[in-house]
Amino acid sequence: MNKGILFATGNENKMKEIRMILADLGMPIRSMKEAGIDIDIVEDGSTFEENAIIKATAISKLTGDIVLADDSGLEIDYLNKEPGIYSARYAGVDTSYDIKNQMLLDRLEGVPDEKRTARFVCAIACAFPDGTVETVRGTIEGIIGSAIEGENGFGYDPIFYLPQYGCTTAQLAPEKKNELSHRGKALRAMRAIIEKKLG
Ligand code: IMP
Repeated sequence: MNKGILFATGNENKMKEIRMILADLGMPIRSMKEAGIDIDIVEDGSTFEENAIIKATAISKLTGDIVLADDSGLEIDYLNKEPGIYSARYAGVDTSYDIKNQMLLDRLEGVPDEKRTARFVCAIACAFPDGTVETVRGTIEGIIGSAIEGENGFGYDPIFYLPQYGCTTAQLAPEKKNELSHRGKALRAMRAIIEKKLG
């Protein structure tokens, strides 16, 4: 009998979103910290999917659990899809998001709204103890706003503007963000795969 699902992230903000979305799977979802695992995995893939697979399979091999891992980021079309898979590392991992967000706003100075298109991407890989791996991808389209706005969410949320809602994803209630977000969409797709697989 499996022990539940391990989610390979050290990011507490992501864990909150993940627990909310996977709650009705009826299985315990543990973080790496809760499972007492502290290893650094080099994410050297060239796509979101490759990085998610690298993390999920490495940890599943180590623990024998069903392991979920995600890799996500922001693609800004005007900047040739930067920061992309380097979103967490953009301008340095220790640089605050106030600074990273301001840097991106500065790089888009004077660029009209129609050229500020962007999306959050989330790839999730699930490695099963039998050695199989499944991946899914979720996206949310928006534009880079003109200022840092909102206190909710994390990362690039304060500059990710949703024209149809008239606000950034940092101004959405957490439940609303989960309903619309790249991670929410990918997690729900993965939830369906896990339900099917485990019968
Ligand atoms: P990861 O932990 O390697 O997947 O890095 C993802 C990075 O992309 C985060 O550290 C954020 O910079 C950015 N990112 C991913 N999802 C979101 C989101 O929902 N809101 C804001 N930023 C995000």
